[in-house]
Amino acid sequence: MIVRPALAGGPSATYRRRVRLIRAALAATTLSAILVAPAQADGPGYKFFKNAGRPTKPGAYWDPCSTVRYGIDFTYARKQGLRVVREERRWRSAVAEVADAMGVRFVYEGRIRSRASNGVQPRSSSGVDLIITFGSESRRGRYGYGRVLAGPVAGIAGISWRQSTAAARVDYGYVIIDAKEVARKTNATTSPFDPRPATERPPDVVRSLYMHEFGHAVGLTHVRDKKQLMFPRLLPQRADTLGPGDLRGLRKLGNQRCF
Ligand SMILES: [Zn+2]
Repeated sequence: MIVRPALAGGPSATYRRRVRLIRAALAATTLSAILVAPAQADGPGYKFFKNAGRPTKPGAYWDPCSTVRYGIDFTYARKQGLRVVREERRWRSAVAEVADAMGVRFVYEGRIRSRASNGVQPRSSSGVDLIITFGSESRRGRYGYGRVLAGPVAGIAGISWRQSTAAARVDYGYVIIDAKEVARKTNATTSPFDPRPATERPPDVVRSLYMHEFGHAVGLTHVRDKKQLMFPRLLPQRADTLGPGDLRGLRKLGNQRCF
């Protein structure tokens, strides 16, 4: 998750809700936990949701030899005044940068419909592997994610995986963006998306948010280093591009043995 910049001087809580679904062979068992983010002070500049015994070895990742199909539900974004075409371009550009760093193929399946399940994570009948949606702080309704988006949270993301002998294969990922936070706290509704490289234009804080959440959806978690996009706060002055630690972590996630 990530908190909006306006709260930078506020409480320094870095509580993070990690929702993990561990699927048993026969029964689907849901296990969720609220953890205090144990962001690391130093180290390689990245941290995996789950590691395989040592911090530099990912323990859960998307199959690097498969194509990950993702879809985006813009219904609630539109409701909050965000332009679908603009956010679609911003999202695709954000995903492309992360996917390039990993060397894994992510294919956009287009706009989908989804629904909040228990107010915590989206479900969709579209058959995509990874769901991106925009949610509301309400606890009710199809886009009601008040349980995870309440307060200054601008986005949240998670993965679930299937445990095999050594490594775990991620089989579901999701991102939920708080549409109201994006619409009201940024200039996303007024300024066009600028497709130039991040180094050639002003920072795009919304694209940073998208990349941060997508980083979770591929297996990264928070670090304390402000140079990395996986730092848990949005820094409006920071270029919306991957930091050296983010790049190292993503490369590792993509450079694993196939399932
Ligand atoms: Zn986060």
